[in-house]
Amino acid sequence: MLTIKDLTVKVSNKTILENFNLEIKEGEIHALMGKNGAGKSTISKIILRDEAYTITKGTITYKNQDLLKMNTTEVARLGFYLASQNPIEIDGITNAELIRCALHEQGKKELNILELNNKLKKYCEKLDIPTSFIHRSINYNMSGGEKKKMELLYIWMLEPKFIILDELDSGLDVDSLKLVANSLLEYHKQFKPSLLIITHQPNLLNSLKPHKVHILENQEITQTGDFSLAQKIFENGFSRASLMINGGKNE
Ligand code: ADP
Ligand code: MG
Repeated sequence: MLTIKDLTVKVSNKTILENFNLEIKEGEIHALMGKNGAGKSTISKIILRDEAYTITKGTITYKNQDLLKMNTTEVARLGFYLASQNPIEIDGITNAELIRCALHEQGKKELNILELNNKLKKYCEKLDIPTSFIHRSINYNMSGGEKKKMELLYIWMLEPKFIILDELDSGLDVDSLKLVANSLLEYHKQFKPSLLIITHQPNLLNSLKPHKVHILENQEITQTGDFSLAQKIFENGFSRASLMINGGKNE
């Protein structure tokens, strides 16, 4: 279980989160929603130990281990994976090299080049990714949607146990979105990872049916509900949904 308790986070002397609390049990699917600039990506970066963010208060533990004492590599070794909102491009290192290196770092059974290539080809075909991408530089000159699909390839290859998807759905066309949602559902059925989905769109949540939906505003989670809370937001926006949930007195 991941437990974030009373977390206060600052960046460039600005407080982004204050007394933030969140608990995600093994295998659970949570959605995190909130207006632009609310601090959603900050949470994903904090969990993955981005050093640009200063934690002035609070704790983050995972299976009784203190994440705040770890660096990004150590957190990744625990099985965390972040599909970041803006995947970076790295020219000169191919996807095959990155995945091979990451698998090696995980210390699992080594695949020889042929086995690795066959596995990569199989998942590329399943995800409708051209197999030529296997030997292209990481995200280099790829379209926004292509980059997002590559995240799924990494997930299937690296088999993470705790996945954070930061607006994975942005930039994907309708068909790719369906394919990605189905693929994630299949992955969740097979590997039962915990999932934290940050999104503004209904598509992923319609397929993955989160156990809990949280709304982040004013530096903390102000509402937690089931899938119907997300539906209210999609239909009415944050301000109106909030009024309705609080009794609709001001309508
Ligand atoms: P969200 O993902 O909810 O849209 P973010 O977590 O990206 O929001 O950002 C929350 C707030 O913190 C925003 O106002 C953003 O401008 C600010 N912020 C995030 N990272 C930095 C940074 N490295 N330096 C300065 N401000 C930052
Ligand atoms: Mg963001």
